[in-house]
Amino acid sequence: MINDSFLNLSILEASPDGIVVTDLKGLVVRASQSAVNMFGFKCHSEVEGLNVLNFIDVKEHELVYECIAMMLRGDNGGAKEYTGVRVDGESFNLEINNNVIRDIEGEISGFIFITRDISERKKDAESLMRNNMIMEAIFEAVPGMIYLYDSDGNLVRWNKKHQQLTRYSQEEIAGKHVMDWFKDDPKSTEIIKEGIRQAFEEGFGEVEALLRRKDGERIPMYFTASGVEIEGKQYLAGIGVDLTEQRERESELIKATERAQDADRLKTAFLQNISHEIRTPLNSILGFLELINDPETDSISREDYIKIVTISGRRLLGIITDIISISSLQTGQERCIYSDVSLKLLLQNIYENYLVFAHEKGVDFVINAPEEDVVIITDESKLLQVIGNLLSNAFKFTERGYALLDCKVADGKVHFCVKDTGIGIKNEFINNIFNVFTQGDINLNRGYEGSGLGLSIAKAYINLMGGEIKVKSKFGEGSEFSFSLPVNIK
Ligand code: ADP
Repeated sequence: MINDSFLNLSILEASPDGIVVTDLKGLVVRASQSAVNMFGFKCHSEVEGLNVLNFIDVKEHELVYECIAMMLRGDNGGAKEYTGVRVDGESFNLEINNNVIRDIEGEISGFIFITRDISERKKDAESLMRNNMIMEAIFEAVPGMIYLYDSDGNLVRWNKKHQQLTRYSQEEIAGKHVMDWFKDDPKSTEIIKEGIRQAFEEGFGEVEALLRRKDGERIPMYFTASGVEIEGKQYLAGIGVDLTEQRERESELIKATERAQDADRLKTAFLQNISHEIRTPLNSILGFLELINDPETDSISREDYIKIVTISGRRLLGIITDIISISSLQTGQERCIYSDVSLKLLLQNIYENYLVFAHEKGVDFVINAPEEDVVIITDESKLLQVIGNLLSNAFKFTERGYALLDCKVADGKVHFCVKDTGIGIKNEFINNIFNVFTQGDINLNRGYEGSGLGLSIAKAYINLMGGEIKVKSKFGEGSEFSFSLPVNIK
């Protein structure tokens, strides 16, 4: 039997928590007003005599039995959370602290339960957790690194992107100093110091500097920094964005612009060249035609003039052919037309056509052909144009010595080599001579006609036919252009 003298009624009623006193069977013998209210009863008499289990969700009755068993063993077990049930069936978050009650002899005579409605606290905790989770998600979703440094410049908070960008693990990055990222880079160090000054003095700073990764690589970054106060302490907060890709895109853009400007310049130069190229032989044709028609011209001179007109006509035809070829190559329309070609006839034809250039320049012209005729399958007109362009250059750039066309068949391939003892090509120009509209050393070229198209056409045609062109040259000694084509394309 509970002795009322053990129950201090005034404490019982003054407590904001509910207090429920039960006998050993768990039947309520006393409940404070706040407990009565908490469980939705109107008065004490409604509560008294009820089993304490009525106040707990049936699914958690096991827990209550365990708790009572523990109390009987002398262990209160601290505060526990239950799902409380009000008299109208509504459930709520309930926290209970409990203890045994002893009589004068010290025997356990009942239990005391201190009940607290923690629904609000739970809701607050849940919403705090939700907010924290949202903040965390935003923190990690930002496409850059986030940092918070204390007033000594030590890193105290950061996101995963920070670790990924700097390549440091969670343990390694903790406590890094803001200046560690710019070690041994005086320029970036100065920039960052200025950014920090702006952040503290003007509220916000933004700078671009190179960040040093764990592996030593430095990457271009954009940093922001704001001076913030948290619980009375000064911090530096901000984000850092990797600019590597942006920088690459910018440099691509600059290169593309430069390429476009170059192409534009080259086209202008090309047009000027072409008009000069076309005009020169055309003027000579028109001029000499007039002389040929002049009745006072004697027959010997007339023959000479006809030769000049023929050479100029050929040159004109060459340049027009080149222009047509390059435009059709550039638009991707050029295709090979294969047929059987006798090397003997091809080389004979070339010799007859180009001997006149050799005579004109006073140099020797030699063709080394295979002893036996070989029939190859190739695009004859393209092959003729390639060899023609190489020979024209050989004659053009050779003042003494010889121009040689070597032709061999071996290993299923026909190997051509055009060699001369001319002015040669300086090393610095050799990589560019195959580019469209590109001529070699302008100073040296001044004395020679040319459009800068011959070699680019030759190279493109050789590639189309399944070969590759190579050049060897020694400035002042001569040049050698060689390429090989399959004997049989099938
Ligand atoms: P073009 O001869 O009309 O200028 P090409 O494309 O045929 O144009 O040749 C490009 C440049 O390569 C020439 O301007 C010249 O500087 C150099 N070149 C080509 N062939 C020779 C050669 N056999 N000897 C010396 N330089 C050459």
